[in-house]
Amino acid sequence: MTHKPPESELQTILDDLRRHLDWQAADGRTALSLNPKAPSLPAQSAPAPAAASLGQPRAPRSEGQVQSELLPAATPQRRTLEEIRAELGDCRRCKLCSGRTNIVFGVGNPKAELVFVGEGPGADEDEQGIPFVGKAGQLLTKMIEAMGFEREQVYICNVVKCRPPNNRNPEPDEVAACEPFLRAQLGAIEPKVIVALGKLAAQTLLRDGTPITRLRGNWREYCGIPLMPTFHPAYLLRNPAEKKNAWLDLRQVMKFFGKAR
Ligand code: URA
Repeated sequence: MTHKPPESELQTILDDLRRHLDWQAADGRTALSLNPKAPSLPAQSAPAPAAASLGQPRAPRSEGQVQSELLPAATPQRRTLEEIRAELGDCRRCKLCSGRTNIVFGVGNPKAELVFVGEGPGADEDEQGIPFVGKAGQLLTKMIEAMGFEREQVYICNVVKCRPPNNRNPEPDEVAACEPFLRAQLGAIEPKVIVALGKLAAQTLLRDGTPITRLRGNWREYCGIPLMPTFHPAYLLRNPAEKKNAWLDLRQVMKFFGKAR
């Protein structure tokens, strides 16, 4: 007699498989590997189909729980931010290297509970080697402080670490080259919440091509971590009427941290 697993068991298996595939992608692999020693394939650059959306963020979990979910079974040790930065080195993995002044790796608390992910450095960031220090950065700092955090308490980074020429959007091959470092940064920090600032950050982390106007304000999940997509501060500078919607999104994050009712 064949035994049919109940639906909830099947769902658990599917959830586990999805997490496993997410982590393979974070490690630069795109095919299902049952052999931990199998060679890596290059990362996929096009966004994959939507993952299931969450109505509510999960309750915060203990460190051990997060770690076991974030670490692929075959990874002996998670890297620190310093190790990841060292691996990035004087990066020549994509064409953005030729126009940059500084690599803009990320800034803030390596144990941050809250991480903001933007798109890529602009002129000011390229000059200083620090993310979000120009006009959009000043607005982001105000947003962080209005949420009840100090800028130094959180961690801030971008999808691509080098400035695209003339502030154009990063191209898929550039995102593909840099994304493993972003994923490694998030794996090192293990934040409680990620805020994805704008379309590129949200679509890249979620592998979901839905427009940011529809993604924003809805809790999603990145490798088990609640993720809130919202508008990019540069977009808010151009469209100040949208600030009220961005604030609604950030208030949901504040509620998660018990900073708003
Ligand atoms: N815009 C971004 O997405 N990142 C920065 O660091 C600055 C502006």
